[in-house]
Amino acid sequence: MFRDQHGWQREYEKRDSLFIHDGNPLRPHPLLTLGNHSNDFFDSRAIIADETLLREATADLTEIFLKQCQDPLKVHGVVGPKTGATKLAEFISIRLFAQTHINCFWASPAKTENQGVKSMVFAPEEHRLLPRSRVLLCDDVLNTAGSVEMAGTATMNAGATVLPFILVLVNRSTLTEVNGKKIIALINRATPTCTPEECLKNGLCSLGSKAIRPKEGENWKLLTADY
Ligand SMILES: [Zn+2]
Repeated sequence: MFRDQHGWQREYEKRDSLFIHDGNPLRPHPLLTLGNHSNDFFDSRAIIADETLLREATADLTEIFLKQCQDPLKVHGVVGPKTGATKLAEFISIRLFAQTHINCFWASPAKTENQGVKSMVFAPEEHRLLPRSRVLLCDDVLNTAGSVEMAGTATMNAGATVLPFILVLVNRSTLTEVNGKKIIALINRATPTCTPEECLKNGLCSLGSKAIRPKEGENWKLLTADY
C-alpha cells in the first residue's frame, strides 16, 4: 500500500480538495446532487488529474479489493460513470490485467435524460463489450450511490452481470453496501447531510450561510475563500 486512509485524506487536503465548513455563517456550504445540504465535501478532480497519484490510488484500491475478492479472474471489465470515474475505470482495468494477465476492458457510460427520466448510456463501441461479461463498478466519490447505481443498471441492461463490489476513492455515505454490492473505499468518511428544511431549522442555513453546488462555476473558490 502507498498510503493508509489518513495518508489519502492528507493528499486531498494538500490539494485543497477536501472542504470542511468552519461554522462561519459568511461561508457558503455544499448543496449535493440530490438536493441535500452538507458541511463538507470531497472534490476528486485534482486527484484524478494527477496521473501518478491516481495510479497509486488505483493500486491501493485494487489491493484492498483483491484481498476481499475470492476470484479476481472473474472480472471481465470495469465500469465507472463519466466523467469522474472514466480514468479510474481505465486504471483499475490496467491494474487487474497486471495481476491476472487476463484481458480486462473498461467502459464509462454518460448521463442522459429522456422526458425527465435520468439514465446512463454507453458509447456503441463500449456497448459491444458488455453482453455476457462480468463487470466491476467504480466511482470517484460515493455520496448517495445514485450515479454508480445508474451505471450498474445500464450495465445490466446491456447484458452484463454486475459483480457484488463497488470500488470508490471516497465513501461519504454511511452505507457499507448498495443493493448487495460491498463498498470498497480508500477513505471512509461518512458526512451527515440534511434536507433543506432541516438545514433551515438547525443547520448552516439557519445561521444565514448559503447552500451552493461545489463544482459549479467559481463556487469552490467561494467555499474556500477567507471570510
Ligand atoms: Zn443548508
